[in-house]
Amino acid sequence: MDFSGRVDNLPRNWYICQQLKGIREVVNRGALRHHLMSEIPEWRGTVKVSSKIGFIGLGIMGRPMARNLLKAGHKLWVFDVVPASVEELKKAGAASGSSAKDVAERTDIVITMLPDGPDVDKAVLGPNGVLEGARRGSIIVDMSSISPLVSQKVGKACEERGVDFIDAPVSGGEPKAVDGTLAIMVGGDEKVFGKVKGILQTMGSSVTLTGPIGAGNVTKLANQIIVACNIAAMGEALVLATRAGLDPEVVFNAIKGGLAGSTVLNSKAPMVIARNFKPGFRIRLHQKDLRNALLAAEEMKVPLPLTSLVQGTLMSLMNEGKGDLDHSAIVTALEKMAGIEIARPDSELRVAAD
Ligand code: NAD
Repeated sequence: MDFSGRVDNLPRNWYICQQLKGIREVVNRGALRHHLMSEIPEWRGTVKVSSKIGFIGLGIMGRPMARNLLKAGHKLWVFDVVPASVEELKKAGAASGSSAKDVAERTDIVITMLPDGPDVDKAVLGPNGVLEGARRGSIIVDMSSISPLVSQKVGKACEERGVDFIDAPVSGGEPKAVDGTLAIMVGGDEKVFGKVKGILQTMGSSVTLTGPIGAGNVTKLANQIIVACNIAAMGEALVLATRAGLDPEVVFNAIKGGLAGSTVLNSKAPMVIARNFKPGFRIRLHQKDLRNALLAAEEMKVPLPLTSLVQGTLMSLMNEGKGDLDHSAIVTALEKMAGIEIARPDSELRVAAD
């Protein structure tokens, strides 16, 4: 990501630079791209029919996403460092590779769904990684939520090997991964996007190209800022209502149809009221996203005061051993300050300090 230029013109400069760079690359690589496309007979229009797809990273999100690719009729080779996850996908009809490199050697498109930038760096660029096995003309689609700076580093390394790369992080969590209705935010070359769009649509109901490589993750960071601050605001509001003696469920039902209503409120308030913090989206992953947002923002000289506050809250929850709870447990930090838990008045779960 090119963050150079005058501070007051940074965002505009960045996007203009990226667009110009993209145009230059397309012109320079036009002949090579034509050659590569003519070597791959299966491309039909924008979608490759019954593609050979590799899937690396079979966690909470990766497993259901991989299943949806199988259901859509694609041939799938999978790899994860946890053998039990691989076995689960094999039972569903996937083949397995012995490493990320092995998976890439057997497939045309490799999808990665890993925790953070260092994991993507290692799985794609490291020894026995995807890039060691990928053929020229194949495509790597990284669907992890990582720093846009890492997306650009990995994208550049791929380009040097004649491999296309796009970043395509998702929003929607496990339920939407299961239903195949994720929101997918893509960064990359328009032609590469066109080739994988059909495949992405088997995992998501909204698939949007947002700019050049890295732009998908900038968009995802924006999404994560809104979600985290929304959960924290919900926590403050429901703690106040509980302390005032109100039933938080009644308060939730009263406000959800108004301006305060949101997808976050609808999915997280019932979990909090039922004291269900099973992940879902883990505290430690959201802390990672806000850290990436703050690092990128610092490079661009953008203050993110609310994000900084929630990031500190997430870190303190991790220090309390709550890193693997759902991110709705952000509310527990606010409850601790108020000495009361959000729960229905008749609930045995309700604990008041006084
Ligand atoms: P997860 O921790 O459940 O799964 C990650 C998987 O990657 C694990 O199975 C792990 O064993 C595997 N892995 C790690 N390093 C590897 C390597 N080098 N090679 C092969 N496999 C490796 O995480 P998740 O919840 O599935 O999230 C994945 C990504 O999606 C993260 O970036 C996360 O921020 C993002 N995301 C998650 C959610 C959610 O609700 N869980 C929602 C949107 C986006």
